[in-house]
Amino acid sequence: MSEPAIFSNVPEYFGCNVFGDAVMRDRLPKNIYKAVQQTKQFGTALDPAVADVVANAMKDWAVEHGATHYTHWFQPMTGVTAEKHDAFISPVSHGRVLLEFSGKELVKGEPDASSFPSGGLRATFEARGYTAWDPTSDAFIKDDSLYIPTAFCSYTGEILDKKTPLLRSMSVVSEQALRILRLFGNTTATHVMTTVGAEQEYFLIDKKLYDEREDLIITGRTLFGAKPPKGQELEDHYFGNIKQRVSDYMKELDQELWKLGIYAKTKHNEAAPAQHELAPVFTTSNIAADHNQLTMELMKKIARKHGLICLLHEKPFAGINGSGKHNNWSLTSNDGQNLIDPGETPQKNMQFLTFLCAILKGVHEYAPLLRLSAASAGNDHRLGGNEAPPAIVSVFIGSELEAVIAALESGKPYVANTTEFDIGVDALPNFKKDTTDRNRTSPFAFTGNKFEFRMLGSADSISCTNTILNTIVAEELRQFADELEQAEDFKKALKALLIRTIKEHKCIIFNGNGYSNEWVEEAQKRGLPNLVSTVDCIPMYKNDEYVSVFERFKVYSRVEIESRTEILLENYTKVITIEALTMLDMTRKQILPAAVRYTKELCDAALVKRELGIDNAYEVGFASGLSALTSSISEATDLLENKVTAVQSIRENEASAKFCRSDVFTAMQKLRVLVDELETNMPSKDWPMPSYTDLLFSV
Ligand code: ADP
Ligand code: MG
Repeated sequence: MSEPAIFSNVPEYFGCNVFGDAVMRDRLPKNIYKAVQQTKQFGTALDPAVADVVANAMKDWAVEHGATHYTHWFQPMTGVTAEKHDAFISPVSHGRVLLEFSGKELVKGEPDASSFPSGGLRATFEARGYTAWDPTSDAFIKDDSLYIPTAFCSYTGEILDKKTPLLRSMSVVSEQALRILRLFGNTTATHVMTTVGAEQEYFLIDKKLYDEREDLIITGRTLFGAKPPKGQELEDHYFGNIKQRVSDYMKELDQELWKLGIYAKTKHNEAAPAQHELAPVFTTSNIAADHNQLTMELMKKIARKHGLICLLHEKPFAGINGSGKHNNWSLTSNDGQNLIDPGETPQKNMQFLTFLCAILKGVHEYAPLLRLSAASAGNDHRLGGNEAPPAIVSVFIGSELEAVIAALESGKPYVANTTEFDIGVDALPNFKKDTTDRNRTSPFAFTGNKFEFRMLGSADSISCTNTILNTIVAEELRQFADELEQAEDFKKALKALLIRTIKEHKCIIFNGNGYSNEWVEEAQKRGLPNLVSTVDCIPMYKNDEYVSVFERFKVYSRVEIESRTEILLENYTKVITIEALTMLDMTRKQILPAAVRYTKELCDAALVKRELGIDNAYEVGFASGLSALTSSISEATDLLENKVTAVQSIRENEASAKFCRSDVFTAMQKLRVLVDELETNMPSKDWPMPSYTDLLFSV
């Protein structure tokens, strides 16, 4: 439960479990501290002697904080984090031990990589993998271990994780953004950071009820469940007052996150009953990714201490909003400018418009990549439903910016309120931040000084999305810089470039209602892809034009992309198969037997009534109806079983994923409809699992 004593003094304990900047400054000799800062900022390799000193200081600090072990913490392609713990102990004479930790152990680890997904990159006989310390993300203590954030690659150097490409993409976008800044006369910035704030949605349900649902335990979502009489229609949950039990949970969660130096900031109830959200203050993308992983882990762990279960699945309940993760993204130079902030001076406006145009072009040209960065079996239930942005990628920029862009394109003056502005190279209006209205239906929305990518599912790692986003923006900035650096007249060339870009790519802008059917038709007319499901978009990952961009910047090699494609497709098949098998199990072991028992009860009643000469039409009619429904369920179960069996014999990942979508998933839906109908016709006491009403309204 929460510990109010510590809770009241946040600044004092914030980051107390992190080997962060302040601790390093305190505990490291000045020259060593400086060397670490160099490594952090410029990625230079750390001298082994320096690494030894850092490792020793880390160990001393960790041991003082109760740690006995250390672990290289990494993010394999499973979507969750991985860790293997080693004690600091080292034997000395007379059966005694010393606590030791060397620079070598800090910098490099060699976990067996054979059991992590590699998409065919690595055979088990070459199982060795390496973890390499990522000094840009601080080490921390959790559960009596010192956690060292690391990147993970194979013996032959292929990347096997989600951190490495993210780090690479951050550095390439920095390089290209700097070229643009130089063109605008900036001589002070030496680095451009990508920043991310990831809003995290989740559900909380009672653990006792969860324990009675095989589907929740095994798949994280309900595979059956009739619609409750009340869902989210009354819109009374969003921002509603927070129940005591939930509030206690949120308090403890905040406290534990703060100890780990995570800037948990905002918490509130979300649209669906039992749904909530946590948003942190934004930080560098790499750290934001690490922090989001820790946040998800602690959300689940702490819930159990409160007799609750935290569901991070994208769609735990049918007919009720699922959970997403909004990826707020921006670019900031180390001389303190947010490059996606329109700013107040005209000169900056032009620079802003350059970045804006690069982003529009990038999102237009690489829409399928962004789409697939949010693709998973779980998220397929959301994208395209009337609750999350559609599967069509478009950009919302608000009416004011759209008017500015239209004026620039047409060469006519832009009229803001009562003032006219000539859209020359350096004459643009001052923007007010709030002039971008909120549009919740857009997958990629400009929100004043950042873009919010809203397609991600709640369980997703943010790494893939940000890797792709950074890389495609880097590519567009590269093309712009290549052209502008050659220009004789920068201003003229810039204006021509921006006008051309707007003309060619403005069709990606959509400020209307993304949930409407008209948009689907309109998007098709504009030639924007509508990649409805995971199996439609994942295979596009390895298209030549995409691979060449990743290869140009050395973010991924072709082999690495191909392996990721295989992993994603294979994962899709596994998830659908597990869900289908769980449905079969529940239907045969719980649902059909319950139906038979209740039908028998009705028949018994009918017989007694007949003997007594009482009208038994209700019982007979109802029992016949149930009996027919039971037969249909049994048939649908057999059909589903045939389909799942058929998947096993398909060799190729893409083909089996496609079959899962077209056949297995369809058979699952068919079975679900029948079972949900049965549920609505059965007495609550005879239904073998908690209902939607129980699950959604019991906390
Ligand atoms: P909303 O729910 O309306 O989208 P929130 O305040 O819940 O807004 O979330 C906004 C998120 O955007 C926060 O995580 C915030 O830290 C983040 N954010 C704000 N500015 C930036 C920025 N420059 N770069 C990245 N993220 C940002
Ligand atoms: Mg948001």
